[in-house]
Amino acid sequence: MENRETVSKNFIEREIDKDLREGVYETVHTRFPPEPNGYLHIGHAKSIILNSGIAKEYKGLFNLRFDDTNPTKEKSEFVESIKEDVAWLGADWEDRLFFASDYFEKMYEYALKLIERGKAYVSALSAEEIKEYRGTLTEPGKDDPDRDRSIGENLRLFKEMKDGKYEDGKYVLRGKIDMKSPNINMRDPVIYRIAHLSHQNTGDKWCIYPMYDFAHPLEDAIEGITHSLCTLEFEDHRPLYDWVIRECEIETPPRQIEFAKLYLNNVVTGKRYIKRLVEDGTVDGWDDPRLVSIAGLRRRGYTPESIRNFVTLCGISKSQATAEIDMLEYCIREDLKPKVKRLMAVIHPLKLIIDNYPEGQTEELDAVNNPENPELGSRKVTFSRELWIEREDFMEEPPKKYFRLFPGNEVRLMNAYFVKCVGFDKDDSGNITAVHCTYDPLTKQGPEFKSDRKVKGTIHWVNAADSAEVKVRLYENIVDEEKGVYDEEGNINLNPNSLEECSSYVEKELIEAKAFDRFQFVRNGFFCADPKDSREGAPVFNRIVSLKSSFKLPQQT
Ligand code: ATP
Ligand code: MG
Repeated sequence: MENRETVSKNFIEREIDKDLREGVYETVHTRFPPEPNGYLHIGHAKSIILNSGIAKEYKGLFNLRFDDTNPTKEKSEFVESIKEDVAWLGADWEDRLFFASDYFEKMYEYALKLIERGKAYVSALSAEEIKEYRGTLTEPGKDDPDRDRSIGENLRLFKEMKDGKYEDGKYVLRGKIDMKSPNINMRDPVIYRIAHLSHQNTGDKWCIYPMYDFAHPLEDAIEGITHSLCTLEFEDHRPLYDWVIRECEIETPPRQIEFAKLYLNNVVTGKRYIKRLVEDGTVDGWDDPRLVSIAGLRRRGYTPESIRNFVTLCGISKSQATAEIDMLEYCIREDLKPKVKRLMAVIHPLKLIIDNYPEGQTEELDAVNNPENPELGSRKVTFSRELWIEREDFMEEPPKKYFRLFPGNEVRLMNAYFVKCVGFDKDDSGNITAVHCTYDPLTKQGPEFKSDRKVKGTIHWVNAADSAEVKVRLYENIVDEEKGVYDEEGNINLNPNSLEECSSYVEKELIEAKAFDRFQFVRNGFFCADPKDSREGAPVFNRIVSLKSSFKLPQQT
């Protein structure tokens, strides 16, 4: 994958190459500018990996900058979680961690400069009126009655706004651009508003706050960003971005380039929607393993490598497309397949009794930890008369092509022996409580094993006496895929079966699993020890992904 990337560059890299060739910039400096109003999600990972990757590729610099100019929704909890997530993804900002709010003084000075240059004015229109005056896509806007207020008067009022003389909404500062512009963003946008709010970084120092479209280009300029990479919804804002840079007389202008957002089909990605699930208690916090928040993916057991590969496979382009969750799942499988041990765990247990195995006897059998990776070695598994097998590996009346256990049928117990079903027990309500088998001592599995007797089914098992009961969580999409993500009112169509908690039995080695330890449970998928709920000697396992996949990597030409 790495090679492929260097062979064919994406359109942003080609633009940067051109800028460097033409001497527009001498170096490359990028940033990731999250607003600390929620946790990051898989979409943000694309931006983080793109921005930090470009800086690395061009031996440039990468900043992590909190775009914290709107105190209403921002919290320091989010600042901390974002730092953790960005670092975990492997994007290294070194000592370049910045807060837009640290530039409030400079932004204020730039606003004064605009006023002095006749490029901004204080308006007394209400938010409603500003909207009315703005016009529509087909109609030009109308001039603000305050548009021609004198520079001196504008300076005085703006300073008074800053000094707290006015209540919220009394005045705003507007850029003086063009009320007839076909681009509505250019119709004298509001660039400062009054808000008597306490800010998570600056406290009560400010009661006026800059608007995003004014603040963002200045943040980039102050930090010496060369390429300001953002998502497509800002394309129509680019003329305003450039206007701010030009009218503030920035000597080293940054360049905005837009790319398409990452969307996953049938998955809740927007911060706003994830927040709603967290706040109404549908999920267990921002790091619920069913969410595609970075914290949720991490807790589920995803690795940074798998997410990076996923983002690389999605590619960078200007056309909007959605990706499938299957592809993300493919990436984690591919990452873990050679890396982790393949152990046995019985998720939905049913007792198996080997009638002809001596009571009280146990033996140690050899099991290879990962046939694809000899470095992971082998282990001993204990075998005795009573085992656990998966409930679904036995059927009293099997359909055609069912090759697992049923009365009279023989299967292979992985790493052990052939066993033949000779009967089963039922309780009063007709539930099967145990399966009886006999084993053939001559079928002991191992390198020397040979037999012309064919068995079609191989099942896994754990020894009842020394396995441990642990909690295992299986997940489905939190969204009901049949109905689609949102209903008519914009509420999320929830899948009532998105979480199944099981009491399962695992091989004894798994009892020692620590937070974030990952394994393949043979036939059941990849699992990770939950970092929040696992206790010493009592791990809780989250299924990261099952083994079955419908995803195929597109053929490369
Ligand atoms: P959301 O889409 O969840 O509401 P946001 O855009 O409000 O997120 P910000 O904190 O403003 O979140 O985003 C930080 C950066 O991440 C921005 O540069 C934004 O363009 C980028 N970004 C956000 N969502 C995606 C996405 N789905 N794909 C790629 N980049 C994204
Ligand atoms: Mg945003």
